[in-house]
Parts: sequence; C-alpha cells; structure tokens
Amino acid sequence: MNEHDSELIAGMLENKGYLSAEDQYDADIVVVNTCCVRETAENKVFGLLGRLGQLKKQRPHLIIAMGGCMSQQVHIGKRIKQRFQYVDIVFGTHNIHMLPELIDRVEEQKKQIIDIWPDKKEIIEGLSKKRFHGVRAWVNIMYGCNNFCTYCIVPYVRGREKSRQPEDIINEIQELVQRGYKDITLLGQNVNSYGKDLKDGVDFADLLVKINDIKDLCRIRYMTSHPKDFCDKLVTTVSRLNKVCEHIHLPVQAGSNHILKKMNRGYTREYYLELVEKIRSAVPGVSLTTDIMVGFPGETDADFTDTMELVRKVEFDSAFTFIYNKRQGTPAAGMEDQIPDEIKVERIEKLISLQNEISLRNNKKEVGKTLECLVEGPSKTNANLMSARTRTNKIVVFRGKQDMVGKLVPLRITGSGLTHLEGEFIPVE
Ligand code: SAH
Ligand code: SF4
Repeated sequence: MNEHDSELIAGMLENKGYLSAEDQYDADIVVVNTCCVRETAENKVFGLLGRLGQLKKQRPHLIIAMGGCMSQQVHIGKRIKQRFQYVDIVFGTHNIHMLPELIDRVEEQKKQIIDIWPDKKEIIEGLSKKRFHGVRAWVNIMYGCNNFCTYCIVPYVRGREKSRQPEDIINEIQELVQRGYKDITLLGQNVNSYGKDLKDGVDFADLLVKINDIKDLCRIRYMTSHPKDFCDKLVTTVSRLNKVCEHIHLPVQAGSNHILKKMNRGYTREYYLELVEKIRSAVPGVSLTTDIMVGFPGETDADFTDTMELVRKVEFDSAFTFIYNKRQGTPAAGMEDQIPDEIKVERIEKLISLQNEISLRNNKKEVGKTLECLVEGPSKTNANLMSARTRTNKIVVFRGKQDMVGKLVPLRITGSGLTHLEGEFIPVE
C-alpha cells in the first residue's frame, strides 16, 4: 500500500515538472513516505530525517516533506514541530493529493506546514501515478480498515473503509492493460469487505467477475484477504475465474484461540483450518501465504505451540513473520503480560526456522513441473538471468532474452531454493 502511495507521490511530482534524482544528495525535494506498523520503521525515519537535516545545511533550497502513516499520528506531528523544524511539509494519508499545492505554499511562505486530515473526505480519482514496475501494477480498490485488531495501528492512520466505485477501478485497469501491464494486484487492507459501503450491492466477488472480463488482462491478484470475510461465494468465484491467480495471502496472525480472541481477529483456529481446506479443495494447487506474529501480550508457551502446530499443518508456501511490537494508542499496548524480548526472539527464531523448512520443501515439489510464467525483466540477483513469476506468485529465474518481457512462457522447473525457483525455457513447437 505504501509503495503504491509512493508511485502516486512520484507521479504527482513528475506532473509538476520534477524529474527523479539519482540520490538524495542531488535532489531539490525529498519526500519521506513513512510506515508505522512497527517501531523499527519509525526509528529509521528519525535517523533519515537527521541525515537530511545535515544535507539541508549544504543545500538550503532543499525541500523536505514527510508523509504516510507515521505522519498521520498526532504525537509524531508534535515531535516534528519541536525537534525537526527544518522538515518543510508534513502531510498525512488522507491528503496525499494535496502535496503539489503544499509545495507551492512552502515555497511562498518559507515556513513549516503541518497538514493532517482526520479522515478521507472523498476518494480523489484520476491522479497520475508513476509505475515502478513494467509488467505488474497495483490498483487500490479500497482504503482504510474497520477491523481494529488490537495490536494494529492501521485503522487509526488510514481511517474507515472506503471502496472505490467499480467503474473507476475497471477504467484504471483498462488503461493499464492498454499500456502493456499484464498482472494486476488489487489492494486493500481487507479486500474481502470491498463494497460494503457502496450503495449498489457489489461485493468483492462481483468485482472480480467484472475485472476478469477485461480483454488482454492476463492475471489478477489481490491482497490482503481477511480470513473472517472469505465467504463461500468468494471461494467459488476465485476457483472459476481463469485470470484470478492461484495464490491467496491469508494472514493467520496466531494459532491459538486464546490469542486470536485477544487480537480481535474474529475467527478461531478451527475456522481458519476449515477455510484452508475449503480453498484447497476448490482451487487445486493454490499457494497459501500468511502473516504471523509472536509475542502478543499473554502468549504462553502453549499458545506458541498452537501457532507452530498450525504452521506445520497448513504448510504455507511462505510467511511474513513479526515480533509483536507495542503501537501507541492501540488496545494491546496497554495489556498486561507483555512478553519479554528474549522470549519473543526465541519464538520467532523457532518459527522462521520451521517456516523455512516448509518453504524449501514446498518449492522442491515444483521441480520437474512445467509452469506458465510471466516474464518480468532481468533477475535482481543475477543480471545474466531473467526473472519470471508463476501464477502461484513464485519467482523463477532462467536464461532468456529481453524481448520475452511481458510474455507468458512455459518454464520447466529445474531447481529450487528458499526464495525462488530455477527454470529453463521450453520453446513451443
Ligand atoms: N491488513 C492486513 C495487514 C496489515 S499490517 C491484514 O489484516 O492482514 C501487516 C502485518 O503487520 C499484519 O498482518 C501483522 O502481522 C503485522 N503487524 C501489524 N501490527 C503489528 C504490531 N503491532 N506488531 C507486530 N506486527 C504487526
Ligand atoms: Fe490491521 Fe487488522 Fe485492519 Fe489488517 S485487518 S489492517 S491487521 S486492523
């Protein structure tokens, strides 16, 4: 979501006549787009702002702007005002579209502007975005979150759920397809609740049906899916639509009912396991990935064992693993029984090592298969190789040519590792 916001920021700046600089030392404006889901990300931002302050001493005309989730928090705005007066603009998540105007104002007034809106007044359509990838593109279908999981800051900094009109989404995708994009990822904090705030009764499954009809679009992805809202209609819909890829990111967060309840996730371990079964029998070969947290307040050894057991049972293809981190203003931050750091670290190490074992094993099972892959460009790790993606969202590196970019090709999988597969191109007779 944040990376996509950065595409919007870059697009608006280019529209205003700016060009992207090689690095911050060569820039006239630096926009820091922040995340506050965890404390480490926040600390990095303060470090970066400190370095930018030094840079501004050498380049006084430099404009420093800070936006994103972190800026949206009142206490952060106060801290910037007191300690980082050289930051010219602070904007939030609901007024990103105002950035060009704020730049004009700061150039005129030459004093710090802090402009944070409490919520999104309306969805602004038609803003230009600079896409960072050539073949894949992100498309927001909704903003905000209504779920209030007790550990999570997102609902406080992104506001309540607001869905875009289906026509606006379709138009954006059609335009992207005309420009050569093949693989679209629909974005929302909880895509399964798309449309609940719209008047015409369109839900996420209906939206997928409409998008599946877009000519020349190859692949549809979506994230994130909340398990509690993954209804039977959606399972059937994703199983029958040919462009919807066989990959579901389904964050479980924890494997113990006691912790799931304290997290306010709205489902039980049994419900989650049943949903996984339902999805696997409806969508053969589906890849499931997840987010898991350890060290939530009150997590006992038995709770953690439940999480490990669930991971062993489901055999996710990969998982983003997190150490629980207190976020100011969330209910969990005030809960008793916060878990000591040593235990959190011990648990996450065990979890990562288990998940790595499973990921390696699952990837190995792909060897020998021939898979339809979409070629994305040169490999990030080896410039002599090309990188492609399977429908199940696995990266395959192979020997190929630049003119294959954007094409669907069959690749025979010849090797596997933790994060990617190796393959060879099979020319079609
Ligand atoms: N809307 C998505 C994810 C949003 S945040 C969902 O519901 O799954 C991305 C991930 O960050 C979450 O899935 C969670 O695992 C992690 N996360 C959120 N708040 C956290 C916190 N306080 N400490 C540690 N991890 C956190
Ligand atoms: Fe945060 Fe829960 Fe909303 Fe995801 S669903 S953004 S974890 S509150």
